[in-house]
Amino acid sequence: MNSNTVSKKILLASPRGFCAGVSRAIAIVEKVLEKYNNDTVYVLHEVVHNRHVVENLTNKGIVFVEDINEVPNESIIIFSAHGVSAKVEQIAKDKKLKVFDATCPIVDRVHRKVRRLSKEGHDVIMIGHAGHQEVEGTLGQYTNPNGKICLIVNSDDIESLPKLKEENLNFVTQTTLSVDETKECIEALQQKFSTIEKPNINDICYATQNRQLAVKTVASMADLVLVVGSQNSSNSKRLSEVAASVGCKSYLIDDYTNIKPNMLENVNTIAITGGASAPEYLVNDLIEYLKSQGYGDIEEIGSDNEKQNFKMPSELI
Ligand code: SF4
Repeated sequence: MNSNTVSKKILLASPRGFCAGVSRAIAIVEKVLEKYNNDTVYVLHEVVHNRHVVENLTNKGIVFVEDINEVPNESIIIFSAHGVSAKVEQIAKDKKLKVFDATCPIVDRVHRKVRRLSKEGHDVIMIGHAGHQEVEGTLGQYTNPNGKICLIVNSDDIESLPKLKEENLNFVTQTTLSVDETKECIEALQQKFSTIEKPNINDICYATQNRQLAVKTVASMADLVLVVGSQNSSNSKRLSEVAASVGCKSYLIDDYTNIKPNMLENVNTIAITGGASAPEYLVNDLIEYLKSQGYGDIEEIGSDNEKQNFKMPSELI
């Protein structure tokens, strides 16, 4: 497209931004802060993976820690939306911490499944990214020394799996993976292990699926996709990868200040989306910035029909 003759426009992917799990996790932190305003409130890991959210909560007095052992005994602690391992839960008990659990109920559903399989002694394969907090938490829910839970990231890893008990072999997935890549990996698993459990759905959550579908649509109509989200946000990263997978250039940015002039060279149509942990005000700031760069028309593509809402812990209602 010739940038001199074609009008510059913005396509907004819908749905985008906060999911129900993130909204709940942030609401839990704010409620606990309000209720225990004379105490120090600790949060184990970033409550959701977004730099702006974490900075805002830090400014309100929250103390984020990476290791539960840093938290003084009998303090108040909030577990992040990504969930924690059984070992961390035990340490919290031993230290007599008052725990508020902001684990997303969808992650919690995966935890329950892993705990059941662990109890029954079945081996489990988890598809996910090593080192991600959600993955660490889910792997750490498997506690049976007579069974195994093994992590793979894609189908290439299947060959290097150790020997597994094939009877009642099961798999679970991280909730924020690429839908397409996970499908391919599950098909490869099912080819290798004919007895593996075949659930109708994997564990990728509704928000991840909807945002990936929406970004795919806008990416096919745009010269560039800007994903608002932090680098350590798994679902945001996947959005940028999904855009790239349909042939559109894409950048993952924390906010509009990350934009360099060369990123917009020869770009007439910019699509914008936000990861599930990215606040909408950052998308609005980005739109204002792009308007100042001559991107006048704004069109929303898709529709946000998400009705999901998760209950707050009873103690905070
Ligand atoms: S992205 Fe999905 S799993 Fe993660 S917090 Fe949101 S709804 Fe829950």
